[in-house]
Amino acid sequence: MRNSTLAVLIMVLFTACQTSNHTVDHSNNTLYSTLWIQTAAEYEALSYQAYNTAETLLPVAVEDSSWTASLEQEDPYFDKPPAIILDLDETAIDNSFYEARVILDKSGFDNVTWNNWVREAEAEAIKGAVEFTNYADDLGVAVFYITNRDAEVQPYTEQNLIELGFPVKEGSVMSNGGRPEWTSAKTERRKLVAENYRIVMLFGDDLNDFVPARGISINERKALAEQYSDHWGVKWFVLPNPNYGSWERALYMGDEQTEEEAQQTRLNLLKDKRN
Ligand SMILES: [Mg+2]
Repeated sequence: MRNSTLAVLIMVLFTACQTSNHTVDHSNNTLYSTLWIQTAAEYEALSYQAYNTAETLLPVAVEDSSWTASLEQEDPYFDKPPAIILDLDETAIDNSFYEARVILDKSGFDNVTWNNWVREAEAEAIKGAVEFTNYADDLGVAVFYITNRDAEVQPYTEQNLIELGFPVKEGSVMSNGGRPEWTSAKTERRKLVAENYRIVMLFGDDLNDFVPARGISINERKALAEQYSDHWGVKWFVLPNPNYGSWERALYMGDEQTEEEAQQTRLNLLKDKRN
């Protein structure tokens, strides 16, 4: 009798342990990726790789008047002065400190705490970005920053960039909502730059920094990467962001899921070549 009671107790404990193993701690979803960004030499190496490659190719791009990197560029553009467009967050500046706060505080992203972080103007430069943008500026290439940071906090964004040593001029930072038609899709802002400039290079950490890719599936996203395979590392330069972005939203395809459902979706998407 005592043995069977013990067996039941062990089973209950075992089940409880299993349940707790499957309970998702939301704040830990980005623990490894944030650690990677903040500690891995490989992350810095990849950033240098992107910006060094761009620096090598920029004079070629400037010299070749038929060279354009923008799908929004319309003819005639040959005589327009050259420009480059960079995204800001996780492309030119590193916000992993905000991500670390979210993890340590066991909270989540929200626009209020994010804008407070932007107001602190404490983001750090991604390796190679300051040197590259100044090189472009010296070469006479206009440098634009198209960011989905809110227009209301743009002065703090500009302050942060200037303190880090990025070239910033009147109109070079184009924030989300800066004009009614400037949405997070970024297309309208690229179009506006393309009206006056020949856009020779694009820099981003998200597919939408290069091509419209909102609300599409994982396979459609991969098809776009494939379609423009000759652009990567030549006209389009992508910086790694394993923490967030449209790649993550594509996992759930717009479904409102509880954290437990989302965890199941993530597990279902893993491929293990066993069936
Ligand atoms: Mg970004």
